[in-house]
Amino acid sequence: MESEAKKWGNGLVNGCQLESETPTNITIKGILGLLMANIDDESKRRVISLGMGDPSVYSCFHTAAVAEESVVDTLRSERFNGYSPTVGLPETRRAIADYLSRDLPYNLSPDDAFVTSGCTQAIDVALSSLVHPGANILLPRPGFPIYELCAAFRHLEVRHFDLLPEKGWEVDLDAVEALADHNTIGMVIINPGNPCGNVYTYQHLKKIAETAKRLKILVIADEVYGHLAFGRNPFVPMGVFGSIVPVLTLGSLSKRWIVPGWRLGWFVINDPCGVFTNPKIVERIKKYFDILGGPATFIQAAVPRILQQTEEVFFEKTINILKQSSDICCDLIKEIPCITCPHKPEGSMAVMVKLNLSLLKDISDDIDFCFKLAKEESVIILPGLTVGMQNWIRITFAVESSSLEEAMGRVKSFYHRHSNQQNGY
Ligand SMILES: *Cc1c(COP(=O)(O)O)cnc(C)c1O
Repeated sequence: MESEAKKWGNGLVNGCQLESETPTNITIKGILGLLMANIDDESKRRVISLGMGDPSVYSCFHTAAVAEESVVDTLRSERFNGYSPTVGLPETRRAIADYLSRDLPYNLSPDDAFVTSGCTQAIDVALSSLVHPGANILLPRPGFPIYELCAAFRHLEVRHFDLLPEKGWEVDLDAVEALADHNTIGMVIINPGNPCGNVYTYQHLKKIAETAKRLKILVIADEVYGHLAFGRNPFVPMGVFGSIVPVLTLGSLSKRWIVPGWRLGWFVINDPCGVFTNPKIVERIKKYFDILGGPATFIQAAVPRILQQTEEVFFEKTINILKQSSDICCDLIKEIPCITCPHKPEGSMAVMVKLNLSLLKDISDDIDFCFKLAKEESVIILPGLTVGMQNWIRITFAVESSSLEEAMGRVKSFYHRHSNQQNGY
């Protein structure tokens, strides 16, 4: 029995090239779990996590009242206890198409929008429905590890292009040109950025579109943080450039409405010129949806009202809190010599921060820093290696300001204790 199980298990692991310790095997949830396990039971009570982008635990990040009412009403109506079409309820697809069309120079059709179980499933749909033997995909570094994990399961080769911290985390487009070949299915951009907190300008997005057009590859635009921009640059959806190059837009309610547990996302084809969309590919995507299941029907049914009736004051409040907490975060980073932030966040909920190990006497790398910090200070921060950048860390600032101040204060004490400078200065 045991050897049989082992055989099957190994087959699966090897088949998916998910050998342990390979970077494809690192997930944010996995590493945060290990960091938490490293904290003593008595200290667990005082844990502050700046690790995961889920601010729903803080009362200041409460979702909009209309969102809750809408879900209660659709649930109580008893009209949405059955299955929905696998691609999503027609009214939900229409609402998503209309919501995204508000910011586009053309109108999306309900047939362009597919309802997914969060943005996570939209990522899987994009990669799984495009893959073919020998295919590769271009992913940003630093990035969001679900893409690497999904690619590994689908036998999709990953090629990384760098995001450039000195240029506000813009895409290294020369690298993209050098990496792409006739087997490249697309390039992924995440805007507003996770893990970097950057927001791309209209001009940069246009350059990305023109590069992708030249290379004949799609742009997969992860806009799960869409509209969560609070800096100089307004949020511009990649779909604006859909007539230059076909764009697959991935999004969800999770971040803008602060309800990641509702598992409601979308996969949307922006292709006003019909370059990508042909009956065969659409058929393939629809077939793939038949094996997914999708989110709960009553949540889908609540979407039209949520997208149409959420008040501007709710969005403004969230943006204000995020701006304020990112300011607090950056100010506190400046007080801790061993960490520096090359680019102040302008959107999303996280920022990449560089570690200066030469100021620390007994810390070997970002993983060591985060594990010791968790153990000694009960503060959880994500090691940069998890998102592809060694000796950096990702700080999530979507946290109540008192917790953020307390956590950063503890990072400061940690620095003083491990500093190799006299008195830690
Ligand atoms: C949170 C996140 C996702 C996943 O979104 P869900 O709707 O929670 O599945 C995808 N991409 C990025 C960049 C994210 O930060």
